Amino acid sequence: MRRRRLILIAGLLLVGVAIWAGQGLWGDRPARYNVLLITLDTTCADRLGCYGHTVAHTPALDALAASGVRFTKAYTHAPLTLPSHASILTGLLPPEHGLHDNGRGRLRRDLPTLAELSSGQGYRTAAFLASFVLDKRFGLNRGFEVYDDRMAPPRKPGDLFGMENPANVVADRALSWLEQHADQPFFCWVHFFDPHLPYAPPEPYRSLRTDAYDGEIAFMDSHVRRLLDFVLKQGLYRKTLIVVCGDHGEAFGKHNEYGHGPLVYDTTMHVPLILVLPGRIPKGKVEDKVVGLTDIAPTVLELLGWAPLEKASGRSLLARSEGERSCYGESEFVMHNYGWAPLYSLVGPRWKYIECPEPELYDLRADPAEQKNVLAGEPEAAASLRAQLQGLRRTMRTVRAPTVELDQQALKALRDLGYLGGAAAGAAPVDPGKRKDPKRMMDIYNACIRAAELAFVGRHRKIIDLLAPLSRRSPESLELHRRLSESYCKLLLLDQAKQHIEAYLALNPSDRGVVTNLGSVLLLMRKPSEAIKVFRHGLRLPQGPLEPVTDAGGSEVALRLRTHMAVAYEQLGKFGPAIEQWRLACKADPTSPLPAYSLAWLLATSPDPKLRDAQEAVKLAEAARDKAGEDARVLDTLAAAYAAAARFGEAIPAARKALGLARKAGDARLAAGIQERLALYAASKPYHLPRGPVVGHDSP
Ligand SMILES: [Zn+2]
Repeated sequence: MRRRRLILIAGLLLVGVAIWAGQGLWGDRPARYNVLLITLDTTCADRLGCYGHTVAHTPALDALAASGVRFTKAYTHAPLTLPSHASILTGLLPPEHGLHDNGRGRLRRDLPTLAELSSGQGYRTAAFLASFVLDKRFGLNRGFEVYDDRMAPPRKPGDLFGMENPANVVADRALSWLEQHADQPFFCWVHFFDPHLPYAPPEPYRSLRTDAYDGEIAFMDSHVRRLLDFVLKQGLYRKTLIVVCGDHGEAFGKHNEYGHGPLVYDTTMHVPLILVLPGRIPKGKVEDKVVGLTDIAPTVLELLGWAPLEKASGRSLLARSEGERSCYGESEFVMHNYGWAPLYSLVGPRWKYIECPEPELYDLRADPAEQKNVLAGEPEAAASLRAQLQGLRRTMRTVRAPTVELDQQALKALRDLGYLGGAAAGAAPVDPGKRKDPKRMMDIYNACIRAAELAFVGRHRKIIDLLAPLSRRSPESLELHRRLSESYCKLLLLDQAKQHIEAYLALNPSDRGVVTNLGSVLLLMRKPSEAIKVFRHGLRLPQGPLEPVTDAGGSEVALRLRTHMAVAYEQLGKFGPAIEQWRLACKADPTSPLPAYSLAWLLATSPDPKLRDAQEAVKLAEAARDKAGEDARVLDTLAAAYAAAARFGEAIPAARKALGLARKAGDARLAAGIQERLALYAASKPYHLPRGPVVGHDSP
């Protein structure tokens, strides 16, 4: 019983035969081997030469496979970058390390990692990353003395998927570090991201392969070659354990899935895995046993002769085991943003079972492409795997990952990579028993990906035509409501925008960003009193886990709630409360010029003399000018502040400059206002707003 429990916790179930473990080598004394971990993002095993892809150009990876052991049935546990790499470094399954998705949390500090253990043993440690998804804020940097997550700027300004480092940059950085540190034992992780979208290999790899994805892999392989050459030339080959693995595959339209993330078929779950260590690992071995990425950390520790990870689910691949094994997989990717069911899978040497509203069983021997669900015809196999999977999930030591604070740029980077929708983490909008099966909804998922591309080029009418009918079929999908409300808003179709925002908030009422959008739409509808109620409600809600933070460390959403509420009070002609909100906004973000000059404007121009403070207005407006530089509204405000302080000699040139800028920007309304004010200043009179409701100096 105890053994059975141990096996279940291990996440990999044993039933029968032994593997290559030992080979007479296991008795060797452990040495202080270096570790070179190379992870190949988005690399399907079956697109490498050593895995049988005849048109592949992967000589370096093929040579590595020939020098060590190549696993034909290696699996990731989640088809996403951050959860997969967390499993590689900790030996834990996603529920055990708590990272189920990209961007939705950071690795807990109490979970030991390979880097931390290596560092504790006096190893030099470094990681060279190629995608923002592995930025240090997600916590995989722990234990690395160098964690180089500097990303190249996008190739084109605003380019989708632009935040990545090409293989040559990653390899250059890794080699430069290795040259300085390879005289000491090291743990070095090199992450290549080239096979991820977009597929745009440089020459000569673009012309070398007819398929651009193959070209990216060939390009990446050429830089794996450089790392390998370094190890050979430095005489480190016999002292260095080389681990090469994929983090997940790519679907290419199979099962109507593009990219990776939503589904758990072998297209995205099957990965390459190669281990090389001359003298300890047999050469040219091909291992057909089912293994998982969680097995890497226990294997590394055993080869290094260090204590095993107490809680690791994975098992050392050196261990003499007597059984066939099964590997756990999951995807909760579409649960948060679409409200559809999560997927859980267990794959063994023959069968693969997927737990979902319409469960699936595949006979991988007869049907490796997973085309025919044989669940009805194989009830025993299905029942056995279902029981194993459920037992495993029941006995897992699950944890929650701490949330991570992201700034606006970071959120945008993740959204551009297609990884985050609008939902706050933990939103559970649908009764779990009623969730739809993701495999039946892939047309909707694909339409949302298309909508993201259309939004990028401003084609909002097209987005509405595409998504509106789908939203009736999947009203539980936050992503559809978010996209539709944004597009309706852009087209100033405010009733429809409001309708989708309300539908979104009915599912996820705590998303303050969308609460702010509701208030903004009400402002555009000239309903400031209703908008103020919404903004007040938003400010009472707790800060969400995915809210962007300002440079000053506050919530950007809270700041927007305040500034928009101030504008609502201006619309009502209530300048006292408007000043109060602008003051609070200034306090929340002292670095941004907008709250400062908006406050200065009211302090200079309020119709009620009791609310005016010319000295403070000048101070604030000058500070805003210093921050914002040449800006028509800022200079108009500065002129009004000088005029309020009876400094007309300074007001007039500032207003003239503002007028020129407003005309240059084609803002006729602002230009007319400034001209009117200039005439007053020329007559040595300040400008005051009329009493009663007005259109604010700035609209949201
Ligand atoms: Zn990845």
